[in-house]
Amino acid sequence: MSTDVAKNLHKVLNSLPTGVDLVAVSKFHPAHEIRVAYDEGQRIFGESHEQELSQKAAALPKDIQWHFIGHLQTNKVRHIAPYIAMVESVDSWKLLCEINRQAEKCHRVIDVLLELHLAEEETKYGFSPDACRKLLAAGEWRNLTHSRICGLMMMASHTDDEEQIRREMLTARQLFDELKQQYFPTDPAFRHRSWGMSHDYSIAIRCGSTLVRIGTSLFGERTY
Ligand SMILES: *Cc1c(COP(=O)(O)O)cnc(C)c1O
Repeated sequence: MSTDVAKNLHKVLNSLPTGVDLVAVSKFHPAHEIRVAYDEGQRIFGESHEQELSQKAAALPKDIQWHFIGHLQTNKVRHIAPYIAMVESVDSWKLLCEINRQAEKCHRVIDVLLELHLAEEETKYGFSPDACRKLLAAGEWRNLTHSRICGLMMMASHTDDEEQIRREMLTARQLFDELKQQYFPTDPAFRHRSWGMSHDYSIAIRCGSTLVRIGTSLFGERTY
């Protein structure tokens, strides 16, 4: 059964209000399907494995903005540093420093989001709200001249309980507002709230998302 990527893309885009951008999550889907979305005008794509991403980035147009959304090992950073537009899944100080170091080597500034862990699942990565506050309060991030903190990313619990999803997303929203006020009041770059996937993005939009990361609703089910 073939997926009508172009049709799905326009359906999703039409459902997004102004101010909410789409990250088309293309992991496990081949380059030719990404190309279909690209030809329809989509430019931001999300991937979660370094090797798969590097192969696709080499094969596809250079004006694609690749967002890294999976757990990133520090020893993989150098492979993506030359071209990655944003690492949404920064989950440790060590990783942030390595991104900064590799970006400097490439004479680039890499945009990053801090990943929050609010879901109940143990398996998910990310900072607790307090760990996030601590990192910013420590202030050392201000010396990282080649990485730029542009906001927060989170994945809500995988549940049918919409109220729980909403609660987690609103907690993220409140933390964003707090950090914005405290550390980035005059920095227009700190503006992203990346939450919402195929099954929960309509909730995310009502909870202040500015970036939705959608895979299945565009490209169909992934076969791992
Ligand atoms: C895979 C993935 C998505 C997309 O999930 P879908 O349910 O296919 O829309 C979003 N965010 C992250 C971090 C992912 O790993």
